[in-house]
Formats: sequence, structure tokens, C-alpha cells
Amino acid sequence: MSDASAASFDFDLIVIGAGYGGFDAAKHAADHGLRTAIVESRDMGGTCVNRGCVPSKALLAASGRVRELADAEHLRGFGIHAAPVRFERQKIADHANQLVATIRTNLTRSLERAGATILRGKGRLEGPQRVAVREASGIERVYSARDVIIATGSDPFVPPGIETDGRTVFTSDEAISLEWLPRWIAIIGSGYIGLEFADVYTALGCEVTMIEALDRVMPTFDPDIAKIAARKLIDGRDIDARAGVLAKTVTPGSPVRIELVEMVSREPVEILEVDAVLVATGRVPVSKELNLESVGVTTNRGFIPVDEAMRVLVDDKPLAHLWAVGDVTGKMMLAHTAAAQGGVAVDNILGHQRLIDYRSIPAATFTHPEISSVGLSESDAKALAASDGFELGLVRSYFKANSKALAELESDGLMKLLFNRSSGEVLGAHIYGLHAADLIQEIANAVARRQSVRELANEVHTHPTLSEVVEVAYKQAAAALA
Ligand SMILES: Cc1cc2nc3c(=O)[nH]c(=O)nc-3n(C[C@H](O)[C@H](O)[C@H](O)COP(=O)(O)OP(=O)(O)OC[C@H]3O[C@@H](n4cnc5c(N)ncnc54)[C@H](O)[C@@H]3O)c2cc1C
Repeated sequence: MSDASAASFDFDLIVIGAGYGGFDAAKHAADHGLRTAIVESRDMGGTCVNRGCVPSKALLAASGRVRELADAEHLRGFGIHAAPVRFERQKIADHANQLVATIRTNLTRSLERAGATILRGKGRLEGPQRVAVREASGIERVYSARDVIIATGSDPFVPPGIETDGRTVFTSDEAISLEWLPRWIAIIGSGYIGLEFADVYTALGCEVTMIEALDRVMPTFDPDIAKIAARKLIDGRDIDARAGVLAKTVTPGSPVRIELVEMVSREPVEILEVDAVLVATGRVPVSKELNLESVGVTTNRGFIPVDEAMRVLVDDKPLAHLWAVGDVTGKMMLAHTAAAQGGVAVDNILGHQRLIDYRSIPAATFTHPEISSVGLSESDAKALAASDGFELGLVRSYFKANSKALAELESDGLMKLLFNRSSGEVLGAHIYGLHAADLIQEIANAVARRQSVRELANEVHTHPTLSEVVEVAYKQAAAALA
């Protein structure tokens, strides 16, 4: 590309959406000298910063403390006798709000410092290499850019039959502000968002009914991990979990009315009357108003098809100069995936060919204790072993054999490691236990490097730390190689 052709565009790159994906892409591009603009119609930072990871982790941090201090039996084990715990709901909510404001400001400043132009308004495509931005005032401007990245993210999905009012029936968008604590709340969905909020609500004294349409709770988790995690995270708490039932209708009010039917037969089960309902049934892509037709892109239920370089696909063929990253692509809808995809897209724009490696991207649920995973599920690993003709290895390492976990009186936990018994390559790991979200990173790094347990088993881990749970798994796996 000659300088003349670059200069004929208003920008080298326009990113639509300033969530984690868009932010990382725009910052990376501006840091590397691209004339970059980023368009945002709501709050800078998107879902993660304003309505997702950041405030939810602040609520979990505070409510986790309450749970710990209220757990008299656990404290007695250390010889500690604490006074009854008191907490102020509003101050917990304020902690989350302040954190959001701080991170949003830091993120916006770092974009400005990098030299990116922030365009406030709603962006949409106006044909190839053109983006129209409608400002809040109604004024619309059209900009040209050599490359365009779509990073418009996702919104909560509310199934048909469920009516939300934002006060008694709401999604995570509202739950995050912890405006009140219902005495009895039903949480629809037992994915990571439902589980994290169940952790918060039960710690703060609410009674929870968890409604899961599929035939087991925590259906997206490794079955062994889900079984042991559910013992503490669900059965051990004030949670009544129902699997295989569908909330056919939910009507806001006081009380909220839930019509439960059996998932398979659709036979009526019960009418529940609760104080509040949190709908945590997944997320849908934000792509409807992007005018994707103007460049011939057809979505897959709203998700924008991309290749592993993050190029947008039309009939499986990459379109020139159009990229998409983050939740809107529907691949592992997590903040760090969005950021990683943003980095990959910009590297390719800069001419450095690089592909995303989804297998090495970890995922975590920040319950107390945490759950995490990376790489293949056991069933996918079995399928790979069958198709590639190798024997799958599986070892289990228990927190109850770990000195640090025992010292913390937190020895409930399990790590499952999946590996290729011939080559030793680590294929995946699933962990439930204290600090599982931190522990998974070590295995994610090994998966990224396609490392073998043969070498990993010799790496020295600090004693006594929880990381020795991983060391034990690597050693067991190395001993089990064919
Ligand atoms: C309760 C909750 C907890 C979560 N916890 C975690 C966690 O602990 N860890 C984790 O990794 N992930 C977590 N996530 C997921 C994470 O928030 C998302 O994966 C991440 O935000 C996706 O980033 P994104 O950039 O793709 O999209 P988003 O963050 O959704 O950002 C998209 C942005 O684009 C803007 N936009 C949309 N359309 C337009 C348009 N036409 N013009 C201009 N702007 C537009 C939106 O306003 C938004 O700001 C959580 C999500 C929720 C809901």
C-alpha cells in the first residue's frame, strides 16, 4: 500500500464498539502507528467493564468475604470465633460502581494517550471501507477507513415467554447494580453467570431457586467437575436446583409468577411465586443494525462468521479489509478471547500473519471456590483420540492431598488433566477448587506451546502452593505415558 492510498482514507482503521475486543484492537493499532478511530454508542469499556467481569468480580469479592466471615464452622477450625457479620448492601454496590468508573476512565485515557480518536455514536457499515456514525444529536457523518473491525459484542438473551421489567425480573445488566436483595430469587440458567450470581446472593442471605432447562445443572461444565462443584456450590447452600424444567412464562410483579413446565413433555410442573427473577440464559450478538447487507455478509443467527485471522467471511471466503472480533463472532464469549482476537486482527492488518488459538484460551467461573478449564472437553478429547488414532490419558489430582489447601482448610477440589498418552501433549484441563482461575493459566501456557507432560513433570513448583496440584497431575501423567 502506498502512502498516497493510505492518505486517501480518513483513518487507517475504524473499530466499531469499545468493549474489550474493540479496545484492545484500537490500542494495539494506535500503538503501532495506525491512524485509528473507535466508535462507541454507550459506555467505553463495553459489557466487561460496565456490566460484566469487572462489577461482578467486585460483588463476588465483597460477598465472598461475607461468606467467609459468616462461616463459623470453617473459622472454628482455625480456633477463630467471629462476631456475627453485618454488611451494607449499598456500600458493596458502591464498591462495584467505583471500580467500574476507575477502570472505564483508565481505559479511555490509555486509548487517548495512544492517539486513537474516540467517535461517540452508533456506527454502521456504508459499503466497503466506509462507516457511518450517528451521534446522539442525530447528526450522521460518514468516514472512510482502509480497514474496519466490528467489535459490537453481545446483549443478554431473554427467551420468549419471559417478560423483564428491570426491577423484579431482570438480567445481569441490572443485577450488577445490586439495587436490592430479594428474600427469594429464582435464577434461570446454571451457566457461569447464573452460578456467580447464586454465589453472591446466597452469601448475602438470599434464598435461591435455580432453574435449568437441560437435564443437569451446570451443563456446560465437565461432568465430573460439575458433580463435585455442585456439592458445595449448590447443595451446600440455600439453593433449590431444578434441572429439566423450563420457565415457560415469567410475569414481573410482586410476587413474580413463574410457570414451570417439564422441558421434554411440556407438562405443567408448578407455579412459583418469588420475589425476583434473574434471567441468565446466555447472550445474543449485537449485529442487527450494522447494515452488514451493504457488504454482502450473512450472519449465523446474528454471529458474524470469521476465519482464524479474524477476517469476516462471505460464503466461507474472507472479505478484504473487514474484520470482526469478540462476542459478536460467537467464539468463546469471554473478555480475554475478545482482546486476543483484537490483537490477532490488528497484527494481520499490520501485515504480520497470525492466527488465533482457541484451544489455549482458559475460562473461569469466579464462585467460591472457583471453576476453570482450558483446551478440550473430555468428550472432544475422546473424539480427537479416535480420529487421530492415539490413546487418551486422563489423571486426577486432588486438593485434599495439597498442603496449602489443607492449611487453608479448603481442601475440596479436583483437577482433571487430559493428554495424549503417546506424545504426552497436554490437551485440556478442568479444575474445581481454591484459586482454580489462577491455577489454569499454567496449563493454558502449556497448551499454547503444545508441551508434553514429559518435560512439564520436571518443572519445579513452589512448596507449599496450590500449583503443586498441577505438578502432581503432570507427574502422574508422565508416569502413565505409553
Ligand atoms: C455478568 C457477566 C460477567 C462476566 N464475567 C466475565 C469474566 O469474569 N471474564 C471474562 O473473560 N468475561 C466475562 N464476561 C464476558 C465479557 O463481558 C464479554 O465476553 C466481553 O465483554 C466481550 O467483549 P466485546 O468487546 O466482544 O463486546 P462488549 O463488551 O459487549 O462491547 C461491545 C461494545 O460495542 C458497543 N456497540 C455495539 N453496537 C455498536 C454500534 N453500532 N456502534 C457503536 N458501538 C456499538 C456496545 O455499546 C459495547 O460497548 C462476563 C459477562 C457478563 C454479562
